[in-house]
Amino acid sequence: MKERIVFHIDVNNAFLSWTAVYLLENGYKKDIREIPSIIGGDEKTRRGIVLAKSPVAKKYKIQTAETIYQAKQKCPTLEIYPPNYKWYRKKSSELMEFLSQYSPNQEQLSIDECFLDMTGMNYIYKDLEKLAHEIKDEVKKRFGYTINIGIGNNKLCAKMASDFEKPDKVHTLLKDEIVTKLWPLDVGDLYMCGKKTKERLNQMKIYTIGDLAKKDLKILEKEFKSHGKYLYEASRGKDYSVVKEQTGKNQSISTTETLPHDYTNSEKLKEVLLKQTEMVTRELRRKELFAKTVGVIFKNSHFINYSAQETLEQASNNTKEILNKVYQIFDENYKDDEIRLIGVRLSNLTEKKQEQISLFDNEQKEEKKDNTLQETMDKINTKFGKSIVKPASLKLVGERKLKK
Ligand SMILES: [Mg+2]
Repeated sequence: MKERIVFHIDVNNAFLSWTAVYLLENGYKKDIREIPSIIGGDEKTRRGIVLAKSPVAKKYKIQTAETIYQAKQKCPTLEIYPPNYKWYRKKSSELMEFLSQYSPNQEQLSIDECFLDMTGMNYIYKDLEKLAHEIKDEVKKRFGYTINIGIGNNKLCAKMASDFEKPDKVHTLLKDEIVTKLWPLDVGDLYMCGKKTKERLNQMKIYTIGDLAKKDLKILEKEFKSHGKYLYEASRGKDYSVVKEQTGKNQSISTTETLPHDYTNSEKLKEVLLKQTEMVTRELRRKELFAKTVGVIFKNSHFINYSAQETLEQASNNTKEILNKVYQIFDENYKDDEIRLIGVRLSNLTEKKQEQISLFDNEQKEEKKDNTLQETMDKINTKFGKSIVKPASLKLVGERKLKK
C-alpha cells in the first residue's frame, strides 16, 4: 500500500494574528504582535478572559483563559483588543480556500486548523517538505500572518508535528522518527491526553510518551477502558482515521468554536449556541436556503467528539425555530462533561420551504417529491456525467466502503 502523507496546517496565534492584520489593514500604526497585548473577551462582564496573547505578553507569563484582571496585574501596560469573530471567519475561509488548491482532500479541524491528505501528491510536487515550506511562505506573503505545518504519515502525527516549535515552522513526524521525536515528549503533550489522564498516567510512573509506548495494552485498557487502546496506539504514532473530504459547498452550514476554557455550565454553553445559531441561520437566509436537519457538535476536554442531529418537521431558516431544536438536542445529549468546543450544524439544505404535507394526500405528495428530486438529479447527472449527485443514503454507504 502506498505510504500516506498528511499535512496539518495551524495558524500561529490565530485570533491575535488575525486582529493584528485587521488593524494594520485599517491604518493602525502598531503591530499588536510586537507589544504586550491580548485578545480579551468582554472586559465589562465578570468573566472577561484572555482568548489569545502576543509573544511579548507570553513573556509576562500571561496565560490563555485567565481573567483580564489577573493578566493586567502581571503587566500593567497590557493592551486589550476585543475578538472579531466575523473577521476571523473571513480569514479562516480565505485560508481554507487557498489551501484547498494543494489537495482535493481537505478536512477542517477548527477555525484555524486543517488537514490536507497529500498521499500520492509527490507525483505532482516531487518534494513535499519543500512544498510545505512554499505554502507556509506564501501564506505569510499573501495574508500577512504565519502558520505551522506538520507532516506525518497520518493525522495524529501531522497534528503533533505542527505543534513542535512555533511560529512559522515546518516539522515532520514520520514513521521512522517516532522514537526520536515523539517518545521524549511529556505524555501530556500527546493529542487527546487531557489533564486528568496525564495525572493518572503520572501516578502509574508514565511521564513521557515513550514510557506510555512501553506499557502493556491490557494494563492501559484496565485503567482507561476504550481510551486505553487509543493511548496505546497514539504513543506508537498509530492512527488509522481518514482525512474526511468535504463535499459540495451547500450541503451543510456549520460553525464551531473552541471555547476560551472548558465549560461545564449549561447556561454558558447555550449562550454560545444562541450566537452560533443566529450566525448560521443568517447565512442560510443570505443564501436563500432552508435547513431540514439541525445538529449540535460537542468536543470534550479529552478531545472526544460527539454530536446529535434531528430533523425538523418543516425545513426552516427561522432563528427561533432552529434555536428551539438546537436547545432540545443540547438538553437531550449534553453529558455534563467539560466542553472544549461546541458548534451548530445545519444540513439537508433546500432552496424552497417545503410545503406542508396535508394528512390526506401524504403518500401522493411524498411520491411526487421523490419524483421531482429524482428528475433533478437525473438532469444534473446527464449534464455533468454520471453520478455527481447521489441521494444521501447512497453516499453514506459509499463512504463506509471506502474506509475499509
Ligand atoms: Mg492555531
